[in-house]
Amino acid sequence: MDQGLLSSISEAIESRREHVIAVARDLVRLPSVSGQEGPCALYCAKALSRLGLSVAVWEPDPTQLCSHAAYSETGSTYRGRPNVVAVLPGSGHGKSLILNAHTDVVPIGPRDLWHHDPWAADIVDRRLFGRGAADTKGGLAAILQALAVIQTLGIKLRGDLIVQCVVDEERGGNGTLATILRGYKADAAIVVEPWGLDKIMVGHRGSLAFRITVQGEAKSLGEKANSISAVEKMQVVVTALQRLRVQRKERHRDPRWAAYENPVPVLLGTVGGGDWFSSPPLRCTLEGVLGWLPGETLVSVEAEVRSTLRETCQDDPWLSTHPPILEFPTNRTQPCWVDNESPLVHVVQQSISAVRGVVPALTVANAGSDQWLYTVHGATPAVQMGPGGGGAHAPDEYVNIGDIVDCTKILALAAIAWCGSEEEL
Ligand SMILES: [Zn+2]
Repeated sequence: MDQGLLSSISEAIESRREHVIAVARDLVRLPSVSGQEGPCALYCAKALSRLGLSVAVWEPDPTQLCSHAAYSETGSTYRGRPNVVAVLPGSGHGKSLILNAHTDVVPIGPRDLWHHDPWAADIVDRRLFGRGAADTKGGLAAILQALAVIQTLGIKLRGDLIVQCVVDEERGGNGTLATILRGYKADAAIVVEPWGLDKIMVGHRGSLAFRITVQGEAKSLGEKANSISAVEKMQVVVTALQRLRVQRKERHRDPRWAAYENPVPVLLGTVGGGDWFSSPPLRCTLEGVLGWLPGETLVSVEAEVRSTLRETCQDDPWLSTHPPILEFPTNRTQPCWVDNESPLVHVVQQSISAVRGVVPALTVANAGSDQWLYTVHGATPAVQMGPGGGGAHAPDEYVNIGDIVDCTKILALAAIAWCGSEEEL
């Protein structure tokens, strides 16, 4: 890493440190739970326009997206929830780079479990608290400010630098999918997520959502005790899924995911049945998600869920004749993987090392993100990295302020190294 470049970037970002933090706080104060990304997206659009860039602001069109294999059915439209993409055009003969972060956040959950107002952006002990602070507004602020510093220093990149602030990552990735279908692609992408700056996620596992519905049967009033309870029959399904969890965990030994206790979890997320306390529940529905790894396919994983369910239910007199309805909603991701020796991984690794003084580990994520959309559907190799914190998808979420500032430096250095620049600094 060029020491002159490193010190120019570091000084420029340290001199605007308070502004970098202020942008992250502004973003946290804009509640952008999936479906309500509008104000946050427009904030990003304004920040990018102020840098003199032409900014595309558009609402993804579900009628265009829905025929794509990677589309996630969310049940909502994109009215007032635009994607925002800005391009800093390169001068030519350089490689292009996408920097991606999502504008949406998950709901706060029970408010009384928070010690900080989830939308106040409190700072305590160099931590910025709030829903989305880590996932992923700290990273979004770092992207916006990395671009600002490249512009302010007058660095002329050779390749295009494309900034994408996308909606709906938390519900499956339709925002990033919409950028791909609009024609955005690059020689590489960095997807900013809150993993901490000691590691680069070169891949992640796949996930498959499922929904299982069990029917019951009501007897007449005098025979109510003989009714078939859908809630009680759901116990059989739960047992089947627990068996599936054990089988899959024992079978999978992919060394790339060796750091994880169970890289193929079967998570039971919601269950609901019945509509009156003294009536037999006639329907009970369970929703969940399971993880899967390279070496499997969506078809093979679906078949395994189906056969496990069938085998378990055949021993039950009711379920063998009234089998549960098994559905796979469209929210699914595929496993993805970028080679550890790829040029993109080297550039990000060197940029992190230059700023943090330690070589980041190369590892894989045990959760989905938009990374796979680039690698599987966007013809763009992608990695994940970003400022660390805690409590993502939980109360008292926070991001480390020092990580936001360092991530800004890392992204600026990585963009210059990857895209190439016209002049020596
Ligand atoms: Zn995220």
